[in-house]
Amino acid sequence: MSQQITTASGIPVADNQNSASAGSRGPLLLQDFHLIEKLQHFNRERIPERVVHAKGSGAYGKFTVTHDISRYTKAKLFSAIGKETETFLRFSTVGGEKGSADTERDPRGFAVRFYTEEGNWDLVGNNTPVFFIKDGIKFPDFIHTQKRLAQSNLKSATAMFDFWSRAPESLHQVTTLFSSRGTPDGYRHMDGFGSHTFSLINDAGERVYVKWHFKTQQGIKNLTAADAVRLAGEDPDYAQRDLFNAIAAGEFPRWTVFVQTATEAELAAWEGRTGWNPFDLTKVWPHGDFPLQQVGVLELNRNPLNYHAEVEQAALSPANVVPGMGYSPDKMLQARLFAYHDAQLYRVGTNHQYLPVNAPRCPFHNQQRDGAMALANGGADQNYATVEASGTSPQGLGHGEPAMPVNGPAARYDGRGVEDDYTQAGNLFRLLPADEKQALFDNLAGPLSQVPDEIVFRQLGHFDKADPAYGAGVRAALKARGRNID
Ligand code: NDP
Repeated sequence: MSQQITTASGIPVADNQNSASAGSRGPLLLQDFHLIEKLQHFNRERIPERVVHAKGSGAYGKFTVTHDISRYTKAKLFSAIGKETETFLRFSTVGGEKGSADTERDPRGFAVRFYTEEGNWDLVGNNTPVFFIKDGIKFPDFIHTQKRLAQSNLKSATAMFDFWSRAPESLHQVTTLFSSRGTPDGYRHMDGFGSHTFSLINDAGERVYVKWHFKTQQGIKNLTAADAVRLAGEDPDYAQRDLFNAIAAGEFPRWTVFVQTATEAELAAWEGRTGWNPFDLTKVWPHGDFPLQQVGVLELNRNPLNYHAEVEQAALSPANVVPGMGYSPDKMLQARLFAYHDAQLYRVGTNHQYLPVNAPRCPFHNQQRDGAMALANGGADQNYATVEASGTSPQGLGHGEPAMPVNGPAARYDGRGVEDDYTQAGNLFRLLPADEKQALFDNLAGPLSQVPDEIVFRQLGHFDKADPAYGAGVRAALKARGRNID
């Protein structure tokens, strides 16, 4: 026998098949509360979709420490080799809507939550180590070029390349995006990156800066551009299906977790040598200068029971770092420290942290109260904290984090045209084998061939500066498409 249906208030429903009507043909009776509640709830099933990273897949798992990094951080999740911490990871595409295809050429979100004993640590990164811009003030503009035009509601290669061609800082990420790694074969066969520079703080109150890397143990696998387009039609949920089915079958995907670390002095020396701002999100720290150091293994081993409750309502924020960690001056990170929590307040609500996927696994306590959907709401506890004076000497940033060195007068700084945005993009181009270089040329020539000459010329100028063979390759691929732009 099927389970007794009740109203949300627990009252048994008399009939879930036929509405109450005046006579057999209707009209319906307003007093049929079950019908009214059912339709009202249905109308409210959607919450605002994320403006970016709307299409996603999530799973739970565990992080296991394999190597000791306690010399860098006192964060308790790293306190012993073999220690396990529950995790949640949400993958996503970036530009498409909630129902868009998983195989689109796009960066992939790689947002990991660690439910540590000292609160949730959220590392909200991507499958790329860099990003298109270095200052959050351009983020809404950039994303609008990836979305739909105001009038036609169409996506526009012209808008995308108009933006990129005027932002040389984007070239490194554009090269990644149009390489074969721009269309990964599902979520299990790609790497993840924290991308930004963060801090680690040890017991002695010493800071090293850190970049986080997750290397897939499944091996890198990408879709050809043709297969990505085909699958977008045949199986738009390709990556969701692959991840869900693999975990359901007990094939748990794993990533080896590494850090690159550097002291303030090491970064200053490196910046002096290379001219690269170590906190610039459009740059990597080369492995040769800052070797990868293994930390642990991340495994995904449990599918959520309910997509909306646990994946759609998952609300991560890069501001969530635990004692033994800190931020960096990275301008993009600084903007995201504000923007993510703000997005979750709008999208999920004031009390989103109380939902099971978002709630810390450790006890939590503060004086924030009330608002929509306040669950326990602090119970009978005091809802204010008194002032407690602790003297006038500087306190550092809390949790033993030393004061963060910053320099220069407060102002607006524009390094565009002065900073080197070409060498690292060229380095990426040069490491690609010949067939991947050709794929890059072809992948770029497709959308570029739809774009006005002026923009194509400007963009080709950037490819030339990264490497003359890069510009020449894209020119040849454009020519092969009947677009002669010499
Ligand atoms: P290395 O030779 O030490 O490392 C090359 C890196 O490039 C590896 O991480 C490799 O990843 C990655 N890679 C290989 N093919 C591609 C591709 N098609 N798209 C994106 N990444 C790819 O070089 P450096 O550290 O000196 O960096 C050189 C360039 O490599 C950088 O300019 C950057 O574009 C790219 N890169 C660097 C990373 C870093 O943190 N230093 C991270 C990722 C990319 P894998 O080992 O998985 O094959």
